[in-house]
Amino acid sequence: MAAPEIDRLIQVLSRLPGLGPRSARRAALSLIKRKESALLPLIDALQSAADHVRTCSICGNLDGTDPCGICRDERRDGAILCVVADVADLWALERTAAYKGHYHVLGGVLSALDGIGPEQLNLGSLFRRIEAGGVKEVVLALGATVDGQTTAHFLSDRLQPFGVTVSRLAHGVPVGGELDYLDDGTLIQALQARQSV
Ligand SMILES: [Zn+2]
Repeated sequence: MAAPEIDRLIQVLSRLPGLGPRSARRAALSLIKRKESALLPLIDALQSAADHVRTCSICGNLDGTDPCGICRDERRDGAILCVVADVADLWALERTAAYKGHYHVLGGVLSALDGIGPEQLNLGSLFRRIEAGGVKEVVLALGATVDGQTTAHFLSDRLQPFGVTVSRLAHGVPVGGELDYLDDGTLIQALQARQSV
């Protein structure tokens, strides 16, 4: 029997991805036991993230500013736009330091199973960005899962009328693989050997 405060903490923690009830209990205990070194810094970090992190209104990235640092960076190539499902994929590509264009974060992929249709994704702003001109190539970096590939097919169809080159990450992305799990070398190779669709 734990105090209601502890139960509540465990419940909230168990909703985090990768944390089941058992790890949530361990995390909660560890935080409570280490109030000064772990619990209070966590509260501070959570508050600061809640106060300052926002979604970029141009690309959907998360940053302390809107537009985000990538959208504001004039050294980056505005003619090439890399479409990713999630901010974690953007981070994976940024870690390679091999890509110097801009991004567009969809906020997910099409999924019949999860009931995610085009209207749930950040698509309107993508088409508006391309319509506004300046974009010559769109790289679909959507992973090799069934849903990722379905989304890539859907997008290459919808992008056809805009007259931009549409390419996809090449071989090296394992089937069922999410970008975030790839090692940097594999990801760089897949990016450099991207193929038009
Ligand atoms: Zn941005």
